[in-house]
Amino acid sequence: MPYRLGEVIISRETIARRVKEMAAKIAEDNGRDKGITFVGILTGAAFFLTDLAREMPEDLDVRVDFMSVASYGDGTKSSGVVRIFHDLKSSIEGKNVVVVEDIVDSGLTLSHLLGILQNRNPASLKVCVLLDKYERRKTEVNVDYCGFRIPDKFVVGYGLDCAGMWRHLKDIKYVIEE
Ligand code: 5GP
Repeated sequence: MPYRLGEVIISRETIARRVKEMAAKIAEDNGRDKGITFVGILTGAAFFLTDLAREMPEDLDVRVDFMSVASYGDGTKSSGVVRIFHDLKSSIEGKNVVVVEDIVDSGLTLSHLLGILQNRNPASLKVCVLLDKYERRKTEVNVDYCGFRIPDKFVVGYGLDCAGMWRHLKDIKYVIEE
């Protein structure tokens, strides 16, 4: 195998604490009037979004929908290609939308996606990412909620994969290329 797991960069306890804080902030900023529609980007963000949604107050109108967008090949380098494989089930017109992504790197995936979603006339459109590799940005993306800023190193776990592996890890770890 050309890759092996490296050290933990963010532990499960730290992730859980931060997800709680982010949920509280999102609930405070949005929600009271129109509720919140989370749009999760499959597959990576599914893990983060299910934890985030469960931390939202019970009395808020919280909806969850998913889209599947691909920008990465099988390894650790971007293919530069952005394709939509699976679209939302429901209309987001007039909704307070929070797009949930596992990681923002070049920003190409998110900026492409935000353009598409903005055309559907949501009441508001915000971005929530668990991880931000800010040093690698190629295009400007306004991130409203960010879990952790991380250095430019490939990571896996908590939904993030390497050639399909290691999404199931509870902690976020570095990957070492051999
Ligand atoms: P962007 O379009 O911002 O360059 O790429 C975003 C996508 O790249 C993420 O959704 C994720 O699939 C992938 N990606 C970027 N950096 C990493 C990383 O360190 N680990 C993993 N597993 N995926 C990454």
